[in-house]
Amino acid sequence: MQGLMQDWPLLVHKILDHAAIQHGGREVVSRSVEGPIHRTDYSELRHRSLRVAQALDRFGIVGGDRVATLAWNTWRHLEIWYGINGVGAIYHTINPRLFPEQIAYIVNHAADRILFTDLTFLPLVEALAGHLKTLELVVVMTDAEHMPDSKLANAVSYEEWIAGCDGNFVWKDVDENAASGMCYTSGTTGNPKGVVYSHRSNILHAMMAAATDMMGLSFNDTVLPVVPMFHANCWSLAFAAPMNGARLVMPGAKMDGASIWELLDSEKVTLSAAVPTVWMMLLQHMEETGKKLPHLTRVVIGGAACPRVIIDKFENDYDVQVIHAWGMTELSPLGTVCTIKPEYGGLRGEALLDIKETQGHPPFGVEIKITNDAGKSLPWDGKTFGRLKVRGPAIARAYYRDDSDILDDEGYMDTGDVATIDQNGYMRITDRSKDVIKSGGEWISSIDLENIAVGHPHVAEAAVIGIAHPKWDERPLLIVVPKKGETPEAESILAHLEGKVAKWWMPDAVVFVEEIPHTATGKIQKMALREKFSDYVLPTADQD
Ligand code: AMP
Repeated sequence: MQGLMQDWPLLVHKILDHAAIQHGGREVVSRSVEGPIHRTDYSELRHRSLRVAQALDRFGIVGGDRVATLAWNTWRHLEIWYGINGVGAIYHTINPRLFPEQIAYIVNHAADRILFTDLTFLPLVEALAGHLKTLELVVVMTDAEHMPDSKLANAVSYEEWIAGCDGNFVWKDVDENAASGMCYTSGTTGNPKGVVYSHRSNILHAMMAAATDMMGLSFNDTVLPVVPMFHANCWSLAFAAPMNGARLVMPGAKMDGASIWELLDSEKVTLSAAVPTVWMMLLQHMEETGKKLPHLTRVVIGGAACPRVIIDKFENDYDVQVIHAWGMTELSPLGTVCTIKPEYGGLRGEALLDIKETQGHPPFGVEIKITNDAGKSLPWDGKTFGRLKVRGPAIARAYYRDDSDILDDEGYMDTGDVATIDQNGYMRITDRSKDVIKSGGEWISSIDLENIAVGHPHVAEAAVIGIAHPKWDERPLLIVVPKKGETPEAESILAHLEGKVAKWWMPDAVVFVEEIPHTATGKIQKMALREKFSDYVLPTADQD
């Protein structure tokens, strides 16, 4: 027997309908790429999205076509996403920090027909134009006044392009399982791989992400997604915020500590989300200037492990709740979120920080397990490391135009991360599986060592890699970028680690560098470091 409920497909553009009808006057504030602060609301945003959909339709974009964006977080980028989905096409976000040849690869691989780009990236698009085989049109996200002379034959300014469209358009109906968005993952080896979200997965995921014990989004919130729309589906905030009627503040191109502080303060932002390096910059700016943020109540921190010192400062110095989250492009992206279950409600001080440092627990809709290399499930004791595997309705089952089978017999995807899970379901990432240090048959977590090292007052950034060792296989080398103007001693950093990790985890050496290389999504490039230190000989190499 079937249920007798209505067939109301879960479609992304319905989010904007709801926002416009129920929260139409709620503001969307942006730092425009041209400079000034721009203000609109959900009602106007929906109208302009309809105009975008109409323009796409007139151009001949049809259901299933891919339309790319190479852009910062602004109101225009939002209305373009919804407009693309509203005509049944697929938004394809491109990370401008990828190597130019990778950008060309993914545009061609996705066969994008139109590219929307911010002024910032126009020179990049001009340089790549000859290699972008499938592009028919480049829409520059600005008005006629700011439109530069472009070398491109097929470039038009956005405001002029939609000028002839009055928004008298009806969203196209598509199946809820139809593709809605694409985002390529920037792996360290091989070509980027295309993750394809569906309308259904985007809606279900936005509901999961907004739930009370996840990000806890409300129409009383003002949300500032520092996380770019081109990074892992904007951690759902481009959907979850309008779905819940939250006011939005979009940071545009400026993401330094001072600019982010200015927006958080002037727009009275209550919730923001970004990778740890952004928060490091903000905290440094606040420490240097003595500025405060009385309106900010919580920050979501993910994309890389959040060092304890960031959690401690936000929570104890500024009274801001840290929501440490783990996710991946393949998971839409949310996997786990660290909020405090009643089981840990009584914890205070360092014991509470121990839990807050974990990546937390999954929402309904994400199932997790850890296994050994043979695929056997491992115990949830908070100590045993294993390969982290996940399944759920907003998790990839395959990559675009790629035959490899990425699921195990039970339908779980291997995340490539190594983790522990404790008896209350709290997951802690200890490493990427290829970065874990194998010493004497046991594993050492490079992330744990890095997180403790950055708690040293003179350390700006730290990375730990395994170096070949004749007796132990591998031993940890700690690579440190000192804070500006500081020249810390190796002994003082090792003394800071002592007692906080098992003796046999202690790095065999510390080296100082000016800079640590990062990937396009801000992660430490361990592979580049391993190459750089491939001839390095540990001082312990000839010791027993
Ligand atoms: P991306 O698809 O670019 O978002 O990268 C996903 C990867 O980032 C994950 O597989 C993890 O290795 C890493 N990652 C994301 N969030 C965290 C976190 N909170 N702690 C540790 N690693 C993280």
